[in-house]
Amino acid sequence: MELINGKELAKEIRTNLKRRVDELKKENIFPKLAVIMVGDDKASSVYVRNKSKACNEIGIEFEEYLKDANTTQEELISLIKELNERKDINGILLQSPIPKGLDIREAFNTIDYRKDVDGFNPINVGKLSIGEDSFVSCTPYGVVKMLEKYNIEVEGKRAVIIGRSNIVGKPLIQCLLNKNATVTVCHSRTKNIKEITKQADIIVAALGKAKFVTEDMVKDGAVVIDVGINRNEEGKLVGDVDFENVSKKASYITPVPGGVGPMTIAMLMNNVVKAAELQNNKL
Ligand code: NAP
Repeated sequence: MELINGKELAKEIRTNLKRRVDELKKENIFPKLAVIMVGDDKASSVYVRNKSKACNEIGIEFEEYLKDANTTQEELISLIKELNERKDINGILLQSPIPKGLDIREAFNTIDYRKDVDGFNPINVGKLSIGEDSFVSCTPYGVVKMLEKYNIEVEGKRAVIIGRSNIVGKPLIQCLLNKNATVTVCHSRTKNIKEITKQADIIVAALGKAKFVTEDMVKDGAVVIDVGINRNEEGKLVGDVDFENVSKKASYITPVPGGVGPMTIAMLMNNVVKAAELQNNKL
């Protein structure tokens, strides 16, 4: 079994990105990310802080818009439109969740697709689905980069994704299809999941249930990617995979923490740099 070290790979990606940012700065281009957070969700504050740190490390400028929970839909949309117009801002990210009563789809749809570094705007979703260059949602993109880095063959392989959310499962279907995998998606209404996962060469668990994927669900030599982030009874971070037992059967496996998580932030940084390069005709 080989451990897929997302932490190390993310570091390598960030080092390369810093070089690209340094090149841009020589030409007076200063990549900048704007992050909007509405309300005071604790987990979101941690995520935003981590994104700000990552930007700092690479040399990407970071602007935070912290709006209180009473912000109206009109105010949110008008802020996004203002940021769309700003030439100095290359990427816009709306941290989810936002308070109930606000329409997050309309907000994502309003972000200019050229600044949509999360890849949630329907234009980017559509481009991904027809195989055109686009901004790809950061977590699935990170998963793909891991497979590439470890030279894991995807073409012709049977990939099973557990989870069909708009931010992970669904874009990952497209990413793996584009790499010629045979893709099956399982969700909460799927019957006999075990029978399906047992046939998989590659399993991606993205459902948010601690230790859901057990040893008996995995065939010998499968590649197991764990997207899940859960807290166990002791408050420790655990994935969707029973790592201890599944790792005995897998050929490759990602740990939690230190697997997909760091890759997600690295791919966000990648998308911001790419946005700055595209907007300045450098790609
Ligand atoms: P989500 O929006 O809650 O979606 C969960 C998906 O899993 C849904 O499609 C749901 O099916 C399916 N599901 C739930 N219970 C299931 C079950 N018992 N059997 C089969 N399928 C089941 O979650 P998400 O945002 O995609 O996130 C999934 C996990 O990844 C969470 O733990 C989250 O914290 C983590 N995550 C990690 C990163 C990272 O950077 N590592 C990034 C994003 C998310 P239905 O569609 O039928 O409801």
